[in-house]
This record gives sequence, structure tokens and C-alpha cells, in this order.
Amino acid sequence: MKYVSTRGLAPLTGFEDVLLAGLAPDGGLYMPQHWPSMTKEQIASFAGASYADIAASIIGLFTGDTFSDAQLKEMAQKVYSRFSDARVAPLTSVGDEDYILELYHGPTLAFKDFAMQILGQMFDDVLARHDRRLTIIAATSGDTGAAAIDALKNCSHVDVVVLHPEGRVTDVQRRMMTTVGRPNVHNIAVNGAFDDCQAIVKQLFADREFSERVCLGGVNSINWARLAAQTVYYFTAFAALSPNGEAVNFVVPTGNFGDVFAGFAAKKMGLGVGKLVVATNANDILHRALTSGDYTPAGVTPTTSPSMDIQVASNFERLLFEVMDRDSTQLREKMAIFASEKSMTLTAHERRAIAEDFASFAASEEQTLGEIKHHYEKTGALIDPHTAVARCAAVNLRAQGVLSGKTVTLSTAHPAKFPEAVEQATGVSPPLPEDYSALFDLEEHVVRAGNNVSAVRSVILERVTAARQ
Ligand SMILES: *Cc1c(COP(=O)(O)O)cnc(C)c1O
Repeated sequence: MKYVSTRGLAPLTGFEDVLLAGLAPDGGLYMPQHWPSMTKEQIASFAGASYADIAASIIGLFTGDTFSDAQLKEMAQKVYSRFSDARVAPLTSVGDEDYILELYHGPTLAFKDFAMQILGQMFDDVLARHDRRLTIIAATSGDTGAAAIDALKNCSHVDVVVLHPEGRVTDVQRRMMTTVGRPNVHNIAVNGAFDDCQAIVKQLFADREFSERVCLGGVNSINWARLAAQTVYYFTAFAALSPNGEAVNFVVPTGNFGDVFAGFAAKKMGLGVGKLVVATNANDILHRALTSGDYTPAGVTPTTSPSMDIQVASNFERLLFEVMDRDSTQLREKMAIFASEKSMTLTAHERRAIAEDFASFAASEEQTLGEIKHHYEKTGALIDPHTAVARCAAVNLRAQGVLSGKTVTLSTAHPAKFPEAVEQATGVSPPLPEDYSALFDLEEHVVRAGNNVSAVRSVILERVTAARQ
């Protein structure tokens, strides 16, 4: 398996470099040169198999000769056995043909653990093999940071630096990042929004001297390895619900377009996915792009689903690449226009191609909180605000006739990660699982930095060099 860059100016690359580098050297995103494919029989055989074994076989389609089958199996068994539910990604029924896929039973209570935990194992193995040390940097809107820190805190070959927007993540999210207390974990609170953090990370990668000096690597959802690992639960859900292979829709709460693109990748690999629904909160650039062709960031509005308070959805470039039939020259032109004008317009052809696989919905804050309440009254279960955004989309698009047949809503976080919003909607405060009872007693470790690349660069140089002495 080789990888190409969406911008077309980087050499063909193997999985190992894709894993370690994150972004391609030409500024593009790595994509598999060809989609691996799975037969209906292979997919049907996943019903009843263990999540870890399915993960090892699917991820193995993307990793080339970097790991042996046995190694992948061992890594997958090790990480997915840490999940608090033995089924790893359980499905629950919420009415006729309507299901919720619970993706929050990992160590940091959000779906990002699915990919990040196995990436931690991959990094440790590959870096040990080459006796290398990396500084892994991530911008987080709340959940990526905790997932990355938990996955990498025991890696002896990695320093992990996480930038979060100060005051824009919940207390539980922040404490999961700042209370870990390991010398290789560095939290930076940036005086800005998530998009500012992400822009700073991009600038740090572009600063060749700096990035070589600290050996910078990335685990944001632009890292293909993450998307490869996230395709797995689309397969397990499908195999459980559709023994005869009839189409299943997936509704995905979306920020950076990573998770929903993993669903698209699964479809490209032969999975019988019907519609993929892009569900956004009030930060609705993707919904606007899909409905009117207008991809213009509008400034970030803080919402109760902060992990989706994003305007520039990095992975959208991957979809554009596909709908442009992988024409990198045309894509480069489009991205250059976006860089200079801070806006781009999708052509009629692009919109039509996207509409074949995707639908979209934007939920207001009022609708989101209303759905948490409604869901609680109807089922007795609490859902987090990200899941609620997606449930709004599922309910409304079914009523509009856009969705029919079996539909799975991805539940991306445990409600206790967002207790304020859940309590506001229902009057009930969701308790944290017992394992996390010490979270509010532990000491926090975080450095503050101004909203600019030089402030962050000096913090990293100081902290990472100190940690290595
Ligand atoms: C990150 C996140 C999302 C959005 O996922 P993307 O891959 O960025 O689209 C949704 N819900 C939760 C809880 C998240 O942490």
C-alpha cells in the first residue's frame, strides 16, 4: 500500500512515513493510492468476531509491511481490551430502524480513543525500531488532546504537546489532559479559538528549522492512520445490522470531517453504506458547503458541543480530491484560491458528486438541548451534546424523507464529559464513571501562551528540551 498527497507534489510514500509525518511535504493530505477492497462475504463474516480481530484485519489493509499480522492483532487486543465495554462499540436500538453506536467506552470517554490508542502502539513500535524520538503535537477542541495524551503518555520515544483554546473546553475535558503528570506530556492553553490552535500547529510544521530540531510529528485527524482505524466501527456496525448487505445510513457529528470521511473510506472499500450524514452544530460551514456550494469560514461560535466548534475542516480536502477524480492540479488551484480569498465555491459537478454519498444538517443550540431532553424522556438515557446534534439530524432528515431504512447515529462522547449542557437540558447531572473519581483532586499542569506561533514555539523549545535533559 502506497500513499499519494492530495496536492500531487510529494513522492509516493509508505505507511510508516504517513504515520510519522501526518501532513505531506507539499502541504497536502495523504491518501491511499488505491482503495483496498473487501467482499460482501468478508464483511458478513465480521458478525460475531471480536472487535480487536476485525480492527487488525482492516487496519492491516492500510499498513503495508510495517507490521506483521500477529503484531497488529496483539496491538489491537491490548488497546481495545482497555475499553470498559467488552463489545467495544456496542449498538443500541432507539426505535424502528434507528440505532446508536456507542463510541465512548475508551479511556478518555470519546470516540477519538478508537484511533489514538492504536496509534500510540504504532508510534512506540516504529520509533523504537529506528531509535528515534518525536515531538507529537496536536491542536484540540477538547477530546483529541486527552485521547492523544492517554495513548502516548507511556511511550518512551515521544513527547506529546497539546494546544487547547483556553476556557473553551469543559472542566472534565481539560482535567483529563492536564492532570496526567508525566514528564513527556506538555499542555499549552492558547488565548484563542480551536482554529487558532490548528493554524499555529500548521505554522510550526511549516517552520522547517523548528520542526526538524524537535522532530515534529502529528496525530490530528489529518493523519491517515487515524482515519484507517476509524473505518473499523462502520464495518462492525454494518455487519451486526445488515446480514444480507442492505444499505445502512450513518449520521456523524462532524467538525474536522475526519470521522465522516472514515465512513466514506469504508464505502469506497465496498461497505454498503447508504447516506453519510454530516451533522454540524451552529458552526455550519460544511452544511452550507453541501447545500449551497459556499465554503466560507464565518468565525467560530462557541456551542455546547465544543469538539465541533471548527470552521476549517481539514479533511474536507480529501473529499474534494475524490470528487475531482484525484486531479491534484485542479485541487491545488482550488486550495490556493481558498488560501488567498478565505473562501471557495464548489462547482455544480462537485456538489452533485458529493450529494450522491452525503446529506447534511445543522442543529441549533436550542434543537440540540431539546433533543437531549427528548431523548432522555423517551429512552431514559442521557446523550452528550455532540451525539444530540447527530440525533437532530437523524430525526429531521428521516422526517424529510432524505433518510430511509436502517440508520446508525454515531455517539461520540460520554455525557459526563459535558455535564453542564446535559444538566441544563434535563435537570440531571450525568455522573462520571467510577474510574475517574480522582479527576477533580489531581494537580493540573498547563502553560499559557499568547495566540501566536512564536509564543507557542518558545514554550515548546523550553519544555521539550528541559524534559529531555
Ligand atoms: C472530534 C469530535 C467530533 C468531530 O469529529 P471530526 O472527526 O473532527 O469530524 C465529534 N464529537 C466528538 C465528541 C468529538 O470529540
